[in-house]
Amino acid sequence: MIDFRATFGRESMEQNPPPPPFPSPEELKAKISEFMKQNFGDRVAFTTFSQSETEPAEAGSEEKPDKVDKEEFLFNFLPRDIKAHLDRFVIKQDEAKKVLSIAVCDHYNHAKYLHKLEKEDPARAEETEYAKQNVILVGPTGVGKTYLIKHIAELIKVPFVKADATKFSETGYVGGDVEDLVRELVQKADGDVNLARFGIIYIDEIDKIASAGNMIGRDVSGRGVQTTLLKLMEETEVPVRSANDLQAQLQAAFEFQKRGKAKRETINTRHILFVVSGAFERLKQQVSRRMLQGQIGFSAEPTQVMDNELFQYVTTQDFVEYGFEPEFIGRLPVRVVCEELNADDLYQIMKFSEGSLLKQYERAFRAYGIGISFDDESLKLMAQAAAKEKTGARGLLTVWEKLFRDYKYYLAGSGLSQLRVTTELVREPKRVLDRLMAEGHKHEGEALKANALQFADRFQREHEIEIVFDESALQRLVERAQTERMTMPELCAHLFKDYQFGLSLIQKNTGQKKFTLDSAAVDAPDKFLSELVVQSYYPAAGAKNA
Ligand code: ADP
Repeated sequence: MIDFRATFGRESMEQNPPPPPFPSPEELKAKISEFMKQNFGDRVAFTTFSQSETEPAEAGSEEKPDKVDKEEFLFNFLPRDIKAHLDRFVIKQDEAKKVLSIAVCDHYNHAKYLHKLEKEDPARAEETEYAKQNVILVGPTGVGKTYLIKHIAELIKVPFVKADATKFSETGYVGGDVEDLVRELVQKADGDVNLARFGIIYIDEIDKIASAGNMIGRDVSGRGVQTTLLKLMEETEVPVRSANDLQAQLQAAFEFQKRGKAKRETINTRHILFVVSGAFERLKQQVSRRMLQGQIGFSAEPTQVMDNELFQYVTTQDFVEYGFEPEFIGRLPVRVVCEELNADDLYQIMKFSEGSLLKQYERAFRAYGIGISFDDESLKLMAQAAAKEKTGARGLLTVWEKLFRDYKYYLAGSGLSQLRVTTELVREPKRVLDRLMAEGHKHEGEALKANALQFADRFQREHEIEIVFDESALQRLVERAQTERMTMPELCAHLFKDYQFGLSLIQKNTGQKKFTLDSAAVDAPDKFLSELVVQSYYPAAGAKNA
């Protein structure tokens, strides 16, 4: 029998008091059965899998696994393949792309080798020493750190999970939360535990869990997170089912019910690649100050920007001074910087990145039937505005959102089919929008007028009675169609529904074949028609349409 409490509860005890212990599958089954009986008597029984009651499952019997794991983890990339893929999406960050490409290849080649060895000679696989290529990515927000890792994961087809380190220090219940990341990999891999073992876990804002000497409370949790992460980065077994996940535990209970045993599945974290990142605001001053103190003949001013040049001088000791445990930082041997993006980089992103969000905007406008295109100079202006936001490429989104929100709202459904983004539009968006809307309104009016004339034509063809809309009638028809948001055929069919009958009557009385309608006919069509009919009976009463 598996004691779930012992298995699942242990890790968390080291951090904070664990949540109340969850019953074992056997206890859970008994409790649910009792609940069923109390509430429903004998009408409902907790025997979903009656067959297995009569046929107790044997260990490793013909049970099919929930999901067939992939045979082998395939990895056949060269660093330059990965870099070439990243070049399609990520602008700049060449050094980071190179370093990551190498780290990823080394990591997965080794994982592949060990995976093979595990099958052929498990003892040797166990003994093989390897320093894992876990990565620290230093860089400000919005410069492509996540984007790089996401695209690597997509290329090599491994699951990818991202979380903020601050989340763990806030909740307090560190152990379970951190392990949840590993379980999330399984979800991302559609339940394929084998593939999840090769996933990538990306933890952002790692600099926020650096422990600062004067902040005791924060210190403890920051260090706690580091310790827990360290264990995960080294190698540990994580239960596939969380002790806190009711659904997972119920599933285990059902399984127990079905098989007479519960499957205990764990994921080993040995081959999971960990990438941590953060802005490390203080690091640049820390290092440039040291450099200035003349150690290596460094002559630059204290810098505000961590670039590749300065990053060469960053040492493990710098990270320790920053507030990291030496063991923790020691497990992150690959260190690289993602540089800030200037206005020109942002322009390049818009123009050349395959994943540019500009494409998303193009799609959004196309969905409203509007083709949007950009003058080169307008892109440059937008890039300059975005660079001022100081949020990397995220600044682009802020600028577009502000610039195009009203355009989407007012131009959608306006009849406009092409939108050319010019420098004038970027500089004076409101004025250009007003002008476009006035033009759009005019175009729409012309189209509606043409539709009204088509209605009259068809009326004549179908009923051999000619109706003529005079200019005032056409104008009112267009106004009504626009304000009442109706198409012209709908509006005319509605207004003139009795005209075939009424006008035929008049024709019979007077022989008249042509009728001119004015704005009064559009405003009160029934009144207009009945007056005509009356006149046709008493021609002396007036000669309106004679
Ligand atoms: P962070 O560095 O904070 O992890 P992200 O990688 O999440 O930032 O970047 C946010 C978005 O900005 C990305 O989804 C991508 O669209 C865009 N982006 C950021 N940096 C770059 C870059 N160097 N090249 C192309 N697009 C980028």
